[in-house]
Amino acid sequence: MSLEEYKGVFIFAQQVDNELSSIALELLGKAKNLAEDLDEKKVTAVLLGSDVKGLVDKLAEYGADRVIVVDDPALKDYRTEPYTHALASVINEYKPEILLVGATAIGRDLGPRVSSRVHTGLTADCTQLEIGDFPLEPSPARETKHKQLLMTRPAFGGNTIATIACPDFRPQMATVRPGVMQKIDPIKGAKAEVVEYNPGFEENDCYTEIVKIVKEASSVADIQAAKILVSGGRGVGSAENFKLLDDLAEALNGTVSCSRAVVDSGWKPKDLQVGQTGKTVRPQLYFAIGISGAIQHVAGMEESDIIIAINKDENAPIFDVADYGVVGDLNKILPALTKKIKEALAAKG
Ligand SMILES: Cc1cc2nc3c(=O)[nH]c(=O)nc-3n(C[C@H](O)[C@H](O)[C@H](O)COP(=O)(O)OP(=O)(O)OC[C@H]3O[C@@H](n4cnc5c(N)ncnc54)[C@H](O)[C@@H]3O)c2cc1C
Repeated sequence: MSLEEYKGVFIFAQQVDNELSSIALELLGKAKNLAEDLDEKKVTAVLLGSDVKGLVDKLAEYGADRVIVVDDPALKDYRTEPYTHALASVINEYKPEILLVGATAIGRDLGPRVSSRVHTGLTADCTQLEIGDFPLEPSPARETKHKQLLMTRPAFGGNTIATIACPDFRPQMATVRPGVMQKIDPIKGAKAEVVEYNPGFEENDCYTEIVKIVKEASSVADIQAAKILVSGGRGVGSAENFKLLDDLAEALNGTVSCSRAVVDSGWKPKDLQVGQTGKTVRPQLYFAIGISGAIQHVAGMEESDIIIAINKDENAPIFDVADYGVVGDLNKILPALTKKIKEALAAKG
């Protein structure tokens, strides 16, 4: 493998039912930063699907300079084999230096298969991506390689943070969970160069047949889209006591979320869990109520604009990341706070 042949930052532009997933736009935002640090001019989105060309302009508005489109009926719904074949073929043909994939259900299936097929490494669930030297600390025993993709992720159950590089193979592949990276503000009317490429598809033993797609109708709020999150932990005490958080959320037009301890206790569904094994959120306002602030929880909410913690233990680690902290019993503080907010809003009209 000649590493010099591999150039440019690519993202896998996930779409489902001909609608771009938010992660595709978030990855474009990060890809733009990485491309600048590599002095690369272009960010490329790889769009796979059937009848998906209508999505190109949106990718351009969010930062794609070029879109490689593989448009084929074999790619209508996600299936492992044709998608792997398509993405691996694009890599072999266009030789990206970096390829980012969303750590969604689709990306978690596709990314590792593609990396194996093109014989490179993949770092999953990265929380930070940057360009730098590897090894991080120069060592006489090892040649320092410049401008490597440094992929940082929690390791050993979240007890440590590891920075991983892939200095000897290309592309350098990483998956990133939704909500971790930020989209750019869309550039209305931006256009991308469109390259149509089709490696040809031949049904083989690995093709699965989709007989029926049954969609789950979810009644649970989308905590990643919420601007205000009222998040509760084990300190709330019971499923019933979440009524105090519901009231505060209602007064603020916010959404209730929770820690993993709450999900493990069966008080709230997993879809509302914030953290390393839950969702990454970035609201304007995050209340952490009866949440201790374990590293795995903080990993999912520390990028919130303003964090307000309510905890009876003044030494709780959540106060280390909070902008405002209230030490006291949530059972007393919440009703009073909700009342005050309601009064203030009523006075405002
Ligand atoms: C691999 C791995 C992944 C994980 N992923 C996640 C994840 O995604 N999300 C997550 O949240 N956790 C995750 N965890 C679990 C995490 O380590 C913590 O156990 C969990 O976050 C603790 O939840 P908690 O803060 O609600 O409960 P606790 O740690 O029990 O904290 C409860 C807090 O409530 C306070 N409190 C109690 N009563 C009151 C009261 N009346 N008024 C005010 N304050 C009160 C206490 O002082 C305490 O600080 C993970 C763990 C591992 C090992």
